[in-house]
Amino acid sequence: MKRADVILGLIVLAACIVWLAGRALLRKDGAYVVVKQDGELFGSYALDEDWEIDVRSGNHISIRDGVVWMESADCPDQICVKQGKISAAGSLITCLPNRVTVQVAGGGIDKSEPDAVAY
Ligand SMILES: [Zn+2]
Repeated sequence: MKRADVILGLIVLAACIVWLAGRALLRKDGAYVVVKQDGELFGSYALDEDWEIDVRSGNHISIRDGVVWMESADCPDQICVKQGKISAAGSLITCLPNRVTVQVAGGGIDKSEPDAVAY
């Protein structure tokens, strides 16, 4: 009887650990930023980490405190810079003159295929 209780306790404990680990894992790759240039993947970056990204075309992207924005760009219209800060999955910043896109992806949906994000 005692032995069965211990085994049951261990099973419950193991289930808890698996559940917590799963939650932590989901949170970790919950959201990331996909940067593309000319329709090709330039890089992907975790949204919960701080990044300063210089794209070759002259766009400077900042990721800080879970939000991403176009810090500066050498394009004439500056529309990408004016688009401000984004953080929701599916949000997109586009720099048409430089053909650069910055998209927030993930959040539990399609997280296995970062390259499948539509350009
Ligand atoms: Zn621009």
